[in-house]
Amino acid sequence: MGLDDDAREYHREEPPGKIEISTTKPTNTQRDLSLAYSPGVAAPCRDIDADPTRAYEYTAKGNLVGVVSNGSAVLGLGDIGAQASKPVMEGKGVLFKRFADIDVFDIELDLADPDDIVDTVRAMEPTFGGINLEDIKAPECFEVESRLREQVDIPVFHDDQHGTAIISGAALLNAADVVDKELDDLNVVFSGAGASAIATARFYTSLGVQRENIVMCDSSGVIGTDRGGLNEFKAEFASETEDETLADALAGADVFVGLSVGGIVSQEMVASMADNPIVFAMANPDPEIDYEEAKAARDDTVIMATGRSDYPNQVNNVLGFPFIFRGALDVRATEINEEMKRAAAEALADLARQDVPDAVVKAYGDQPLQFGPDYVIPKPLDPRVLFEVAPAVAEAAMNSGCARTEVDLDDYEERLEA
Ligand code: NAP
Ligand code: MG
Repeated sequence: MGLDDDAREYHREEPPGKIEISTTKPTNTQRDLSLAYSPGVAAPCRDIDADPTRAYEYTAKGNLVGVVSNGSAVLGLGDIGAQASKPVMEGKGVLFKRFADIDVFDIELDLADPDDIVDTVRAMEPTFGGINLEDIKAPECFEVESRLREQVDIPVFHDDQHGTAIISGAALLNAADVVDKELDDLNVVFSGAGASAIATARFYTSLGVQRENIVMCDSSGVIGTDRGGLNEFKAEFASETEDETLADALAGADVFVGLSVGGIVSQEMVASMADNPIVFAMANPDPEIDYEEAKAARDDTVIMATGRSDYPNQVNNVLGFPFIFRGALDVRATEINEEMKRAAAEALADLARQDVPDAVVKAYGDQPLQFGPDYVIPKPLDPRVLFEVAPAVAEAAMNSGCARTEVDLDDYEERLEA
């Protein structure tokens, strides 16, 4: 209970909560105030009225992300509602600030109907440079995000879907390389068909995994084309197969992707997989199979990743969203598209192949961090992640035509490192 009480104390300490607003301009004199507010403020208002993109020049819009939730799928807590989700959304704001110096308004919406959420968030577009949807349950999250992406001209990114997809995607690129397999040959079995699994399966196909080589399981087993009553998202990954159970599907598979619940994969199941299997057991807090168990299930190499910080290859969303938004905001992107997500995954994968600075090794208790089975993804506290991922995302935005402004990439990297 130590951690729980410490967390209560941490949140309760004056002032309550974790974030506050601070001003960025002088406010000492009467003149300062008449610039900040009426009458001076009318001049930037008139300019923005004439040209709305000037909001990026005169307001905090370009560095401000709305973290929006209705509290319907919060961490492992489930549907705890908008008010109870506020500590999590403030916490997301803390991470945005700490890792990428992005400011956040956390917006907790007491709404369940996707139409209402879409209408509300659309109406907030003027305030923000981007929207991070958070902890909205499947399948509503898919519809909310895709409709908002159509309706607004700022990035809308549901982190529970794409964060996992991108970071585990980086791990997959490197893991396949370590075991010398090609992505388009991999047989991939998913456990879970919710927000993160659907988005991850979609993203893996964009990285080169063949749709016909994916089998997806949910709480009733393999999702076959003959199963009735599937929502459209599960139907997208239904397979024509004789396999009925996760164990059936895993026999001979190259990759297991767990985004479901802890403890459902046995050592026998890992033993039945193809040579040098890749096992991403990402259920939190307990993975589908423990790191040690999976490793001990076979004599060849098992490349294992989990959601946990106490084992190698932690798939931690904080490796993604701060830097993806940083790059997107800095070119005033209108969206976060597939090219930008791929660029983020490739930048993370590349970074894991480079030598790790001593300071990072020290921060992780002097364990050897060298590209290989136990190090296929960079560490969250590695400061280089910002310098690698944000420019890669900005570049992809410019190349894919969704940047409102161009940056010189060399200058930009220098600015980030300053
Ligand atoms: P979600 O939308 O609620 O989806 C959960 C899925 O798991 C559902 O499709 C559900 O099946 C399935 N499931 C439940 N029990 C199962 C069982 N016994 N066997 C097979 N499938 C089962 O949740 P989510 O947001 O995608 O998250 C899923 C898990 O991944 C959570 O544990 C979460 O903590 C973890 N996660 C980890 C990371 C990370 O490591 N960075 C990131 C995101 C999520 P039905 O559809 O039949 O109900
Ligand atoms: Mg979340």
